[in-house]
Amino acid sequence: MTSQSPEIRISQQTPIRAPSAVPVDDAALPFEVAALDLRGRLTRLGPALDEILTKHDYPPVVGKLLGEAIVLTTLLGSSLKFDGRFILQTQTDGPVSFLIVDFQAPDRLRAYARFDAKQLKEGQDSGALLGHGHLAMTIDQGPDMSRYQGLVALEGGSLEDAAHEYFLRSEQIPTRVRLAVGEEWRGGGEGPKHRWRAGGLLLQFLPKAPERARQPDLHPGDAPEGVATHIVAEDDAWVEGQSLIATVADVELIDPDLSGERLLYRLFHERGVRVFAPLPLRAQCSCSREAVSSMLASFAAKDRADMVKDGKVVVTCEFCSSVYEFTPQEAGVE
Ligand SMILES: [Zn+2]
Repeated sequence: MTSQSPEIRISQQTPIRAPSAVPVDDAALPFEVAALDLRGRLTRLGPALDEILTKHDYPPVVGKLLGEAIVLTTLLGSSLKFDGRFILQTQTDGPVSFLIVDFQAPDRLRAYARFDAKQLKEGQDSGALLGHGHLAMTIDQGPDMSRYQGLVALEGGSLEDAAHEYFLRSEQIPTRVRLAVGEEWRGGGEGPKHRWRAGGLLLQFLPKAPERARQPDLHPGDAPEGVATHIVAEDDAWVEGQSLIATVADVELIDPDLSGERLLYRLFHERGVRVFAPLPLRAQCSCSREAVSSMLASFAAKDRADMVKDGKVVVTCEFCSSVYEFTPQEAGVE
C-alpha cells in the first residue's frame, strides 16, 4: 500500500439545506450525524447509470456488477475538490476480467467492463464474477500534485468487502459501505420499459480523539492455531453507526419513490442528521475526434497501416461506444 490518502475523507463544507421530499437522482448527498461523530454520503443513480450500462447492452449480471463499481466510485470520488480524477479498476481471473470507472470532478462519470460471455452463469454474485486479482484506486489531482494509488487484493469477495479492506488497511478510518443495483420495469404504451437504478451509502467514524477510532486488528493469517489475538473494543458510537447502516435494505437504496433525505432520516433520526447540498453526477465521456486523432498519431506507422479496413480507419471508444471514422490519409497512413 502506498502513502495515506486524505482525499476520501468527507468534508462538511457544503451548506445545509431544507430537506427534499422528492427523490433526486444522479447525485451524492453528504451528511453528518454529529452526536455519533459520523460522516457519510448517500448516492442515488438513475438516468446516468442507465445511460452508461445501456450503451453496452451488458448481460444483467455484468451490468449489476459494473453498477456497483460505479456507485462505489461516486461514494469515494465525489469528495475531490477541484479538477481531480478518481479511477477505480479491477483486474481479475473471473468472467469479468477487467472493469474501469473513471470519475472526473466535479461530476463526470464513465465506465466499462470486459467479460467472457461463455463463463457467465445465472445468479453469479460479484465475488464469483470478479474472481481473484486486485482492485486499484487512483487519485489524480492534476499535474502539480502527486498521483496516489491504493491496491486491494480481490479474493472472491464483493466490492463492499474490498472497500472495507481498503479503508482498514490504507486509510485507517472506520468505514462501512453499502451498494445496491436494481433493474426497474415501468409500464407504458409500448410495453414495459427497463431501467437501471442504483444506490450506495458510505459511513465513516471520525471522532476528534483518534484513539476512539481504534479498530480490531487484522487477523494474523500466519499466527499458529490457538494464539490469542489482540482484542480491541470498538467505540460505542461506531458500534451504533455500524448497526444502523446494517439495517438498510437494498430496496431502500434504489427505491425511486424514497428521497435520500427521507432514507437518512429513517436511519439516523434518533441522533439527528444534517444533510448538505447534493453533488450532481452525470454520464459523460471525455472522448473526442481530436483526442482519437492524436492517439492515432502516437502509434507507429506500421500499426496505423494495419488499422486500415475497407479503406478506412474506425476507432470505437470503449467507454461510450462512440465510433470515429478516418480516411487513411486523415489517420496518417502513407
Ligand atoms: Zn467515449
